[in-house]
Amino acid sequence: MRIIVTGGAGFVGSHLIDRLMSAGHEVICLDNFYTGSKRNILKWLDHPYFEMIRHDITEPIRLEVDQIYHLACPASPVHYQYNPVKTVKTSVLGTMNMLGLAKRVKARFLLASTSEVYGDPDVHPQPEEYRGNVNPIGIRSCYDEGKRIAETLSFDYHRQNGVDIRVARIFNTYGPRMLENDGRVVSNFIVQALRGIPLTVYGDGSQTRSFCYVSDLVEGLIRLMNGEHTGPINLGNPDEYTILELAQKIQHMVNPDADIKFEALPQDDPKQRQPDITRAKTWLCWEPSIPLQEGLKLTVEDFRERINNS
Ligand code: NAD
Ligand code: UDP
Repeated sequence: MRIIVTGGAGFVGSHLIDRLMSAGHEVICLDNFYTGSKRNILKWLDHPYFEMIRHDITEPIRLEVDQIYHLACPASPVHYQYNPVKTVKTSVLGTMNMLGLAKRVKARFLLASTSEVYGDPDVHPQPEEYRGNVNPIGIRSCYDEGKRIAETLSFDYHRQNGVDIRVARIFNTYGPRMLENDGRVVSNFIVQALRGIPLTVYGDGSQTRSFCYVSDLVEGLIRLMNGEHTGPINLGNPDEYTILELAQKIQHMVNPDADIKFEALPQDDPKQRQPDITRAKTWLCWEPSIPLQEGLKLTVEDFRERINNS
């Protein structure tokens, strides 16, 4: 098949491309390199089945393809809040452009949505039926509301134009290739521990997240794309940890001498998050297989190598 991955030079996108290329597909990566890097896809650049197009998805593009994995959008609060208007344009105009492309060439379209559509949830764990608790005017809204409208657009293109859609609600995912300055919690703690500087826990660290290793997520995305269920489907690891527990785990694993320091909690920071993955289990026969300890080890090795070589 010929497959587009938007945001393919980013963290999740590049792991997805590795899987698609290894399966023998023809892959076109669309990326504007906002948070992505050529290094992530370097090994495919000379491959005859691979094509890299530097392109901003807020502009339309014409291509002939069978499937579109639509991942392009900054995912870390630091990056999506840097230029919030651009984040909204990427989610709204970008998703509209990619759905328009899917409609024209009759390609199947998968949206990488997010657990952030649930906002600061008052239902726990979060099933797909839960409609969320999102602040429409806060500093996270450009991302949360952007993804909510991206879901709306996907379902309206499906109902109105018959576009074949899949919607994944992705929960916190981590692994090798996250940027050193990504700003998300796993990469921050690992980089801080490796550099021997204090791990920055925001608030008192009692807020929770559930962390999924990237290879598990990619397997879920591929199953969703090639299965018959539209979704939305939660994809994430239901093992839930407080942020303080995560900091202590990484401290023990990497550098017991590194301190933990407490900083202000950002506005609208969700207090708890855990996916209900009943749908993914029954519809996709999918559940994560890599425990946090193992995934962290693999991630630490990758960061250690990069930091030692930089
Ligand atoms: P990332 O920032 O590493 O990757 C995003 C990629 O999109 C980058 O390569 C970036 O350059 C590209 N991009 C951004 N704006 C663009 C634009 N206007 N035009 C073209 N390319 C653009 O983030 P990630 O963690 O790999 O996330 C990938 C997708 O998965 C995102 O849509 C994100 O919302 C979703 N997601 C990720 C997580 C997670 O924990 N990693 C959780 C929920 C949802
Ligand atoms: N966080 C933290 N220290 C950091 C970075 C993040 O304590 O250096 C916290 C953050 O406040 C949030 C959690 O870790 O409660 C997850 O943050 P992240 O940015 O990784 O993802 P999201 O908030 O989007 O789930």
